[in-house]
Amino acid sequence: MTRALLLGGTGDALAIARNMGAPHVYSLAGLARVPTDLACAVRVGGFGGVAGLVDYLHAERITLVIDATHPYAAQMSRHAREACTLAKVPLWAVRRAAWQPQAGDDWRDAADWRGIVERIAPFRRPLFTLGREPLKHLNEIPASQHWTIRCLGTHEGTARASILDARGPFDIDGERALFDAARIDVVISKNSGGRATEAKLAVAREQQLPVVMLARPMLPEADREFDDPASALHALLALDSH
Ligand code: NAP
Repeated sequence: MTRALLLGGTGDALAIARNMGAPHVYSLAGLARVPTDLACAVRVGGFGGVAGLVDYLHAERITLVIDATHPYAAQMSRHAREACTLAKVPLWAVRRAAWQPQAGDDWRDAADWRGIVERIAPFRRPLFTLGREPLKHLNEIPASQHWTIRCLGTHEGTARASILDARGPFDIDGERALFDAARIDVVISKNSGGRATEAKLAVAREQQLPVVMLARPMLPEADREFDDPASALHALLALDSH
């Protein structure tokens, strides 16, 4: 019998989890909303590094790990690779394709936070869509800038930073309204891929605004990789039916 551990925290992972049967386990770090209507088991919280994950795989008799974490959740992906190798459990991964620039896009690459700060220096009204990382830098906002930071979780903000607690998906009308209201002149983004958060790129294109794109981290190779959740689910259901 296959007993899969699905590492999630993304819409892709939830799409798989919604169709997984009772022997399988859906795992969340604890930041995302915890679904209560799944047929599979749900566990929440870190494993305690590679050693903790190896112990978990043994204790729970897991026979397959599916890494469907966000492409920027590189630590969890690395831990999964190492733990699966040590525990001799196969590792599958859903690796969402990166967005590609289209005609009219003005994307500027940044390798890290420092690179982002350099790229946005000429602008006044950046929109950060990187998660909570910018909150660590609220004291470093130049006098010439006002930051709009969209992330999960509340924060009171400062005179020079407005914090929006919002969870995707985001549609194009909503993004246009936000860009206009906040007078955005540059967007900072991860290259997450997928549909849920791509509307901001279309609005940036429309308004001829640059997008500073944080480089994707390197991810380890899995034993089997899928471009989308549907094919990973299909492969899992095929195992279940044997
Ligand atoms: P990370 O840096 O790769 O992971 C940090 C630690 O969180 C891991 O070492 C692990 O703790 C724990 N963890 C992460 N994913 C887990 C999971 N699915 N189940 C159990 N423990 C997990 O990850 P992150 O960037 O902080 O992201 C945290 C979660 O949010 C991920 O599950 C990811 O899919 C989701 N998410 C991330 C982003 C993003 O931009 N990074 C965006 C959307 C959703 P231990 O070492 O103790 O096992």
